[in-house]
Amino acid sequence: MIIVLAVALTIGILVFTLFIRAQDVPEPAPVSPFQHLEDRKAAIYENLRDLQFEYRVGKLSDADYQQTKLTLQKELAGVLAEIEETAKRLGVMTRRSAPPAPKQQPAKPAPQPEAPMCPHCGAKFSGPMKFCGECGKAMAS
Ligand SMILES: [Zn+2]
Repeated sequence: MIIVLAVALTIGILVFTLFIRAQDVPEPAPVSPFQHLEDRKAAIYENLRDLQFEYRVGKLSDADYQQTKLTLQKELAGVLAEIEETAKRLGVMTRRSAPPAPKQQPAKPAPQPEAPMCPHCGAKFSGPMKFCGECGKAMAS
């Protein structure tokens, strides 16, 4: 009798939990099985960008830069391989594994009505630049 009660109680709790969860936790939009990998990839790309920036402004020694870059690139290769693996396992085509589009203007010379100006020091440049050639600060996005 006790066992029957215990089982009934367990089932009750289980059903209750499932019911509550279904109610309270909205089913998230179908997450791609690659989402966490894509997130990691994006994070690594960001780290690489940061690294390059720090190296450029002289915060890192040559050796440190190369070492960290190598580590990140290895990590990146691992993530890319994992994405490939997952794709094969699921039999789906991955989106082209391109790095996330840079937020800054692309290198192609866009027709600029006026010369871009550094918001920090006011230096003017003939083309779009990520960093001011005068003061080294980031140009406005
Ligand atoms: Zn400047």
